Amino acid sequence: MLAEALLQWYAREARDLPWRRTRDPYAILVSEVMLQQTQVARVVPRYLAWLERWPTAAALAAAPVADVLAAWVGLGYNRRALRLRAACAVVARDGWPAELRSLPGIGPYTAAAVGAFAFGRDELPVDTNVARVLERTGWTPAHTPPELGQAVMELGAVVCRAREAACPVCPVASGCASAGAVVVGPRGRPGDGTRRERFEDSNRWVRGRVVEALAAGADLPAGIELERLELAIEGLVRDGLVERGADGLSLPS
Ligand code: SF4
Repeated sequence: MLAEALLQWYAREARDLPWRRTRDPYAILVSEVMLQQTQVARVVPRYLAWLERWPTAAALAAAPVADVLAAWVGLGYNRRALRLRAACAVVARDGWPAELRSLPGIGPYTAAAVGAFAFGRDELPVDTNVARVLERTGWTPAHTPPELGQAVMELGAVVCRAREAACPVCPVASGCASAGAVVVGPRGRPGDGTRRERFEDSNRWVRGRVVEALAAGADLPAGIELERLELAIEGLVRDGLVERGADGLSLPS
């Protein structure tokens, strides 16, 4: 009953996103890795440009690391780009494995998402949106064909959101254990785990600026304290994302 209502709603209301129009496992993998750190609206153009440049796993596997890192700028952790490329190298060599988690950097969520949306498996990729919907509704679906998994994800993304549950317009309200009763704590109270540091204050942000500058062949970014730059560069070198040579810093070739 809940599944049926959800599927009908999804058929009517689903956002038209480019990765929902394909069953190509490579394209779906790219979208899932990008979506781990970045909002949907920002991912769409980057995803389309990425697939135009590297349309297959083999094409990405053959791309120079520096090009891949440069194309990833602004999409979050650079290591994800390297793992995506490493996974594609395995796929280009051996094909898609039955056990997707055997690919480098592919965790349980991404494996389930590619398994469901590309290979049509009856698996529910449980991200934070899905976990929240299941917890609030009290629903444990026995089977989750790919379309149903997409519908649960969509519900968590646009209706049953972490800080705002739109119960009056929710398609599954009549079967939901929490309908009209979701209590959301105050935002950003110190110590409640919801407060976030500004992204610009994070080491990840500095790392991103350094990679961006190197990809553009520019000097190190201005306006960032030397100490923060050094910390970021040290981490980038340790992770193999930046190389120190006689001529200074560069992206790996
Ligand atoms: S009725 Fe409310 S709590 Fe239940 S799934 Fe819908 S939005 Fe979430």
